[in-house]
Amino acid sequence: MTSADRLRAAGVRCAVDAQGWVRCPVCGCKTRTKARPDTVLANFPLFCPKCHRETVVSLGTEGGPTVRP
Ligand SMILES: [Zn+2]
Repeated sequence: MTSADRLRAAGVRCAVDAQGWVRCPVCGCKTRTKARPDTVLANFPLFCPKCHRETVVSLGTEGGPTVRP
């Protein structure tokens, strides 16, 4: 992956399966990263153990930052 590819991939949305595992946006494989329904990730470098790629992903950031009382 070139640096240009990395920039283009910044903020890619990723899927989370029913068990909470974040899926690789490149190959769709399960990564070792988990997320909760209220997890918010912005520009997180997600590493995939299957395709050995690091993709910058965003998760749950639409609607702005999560505010907790
Ligand atoms: Zn992958």
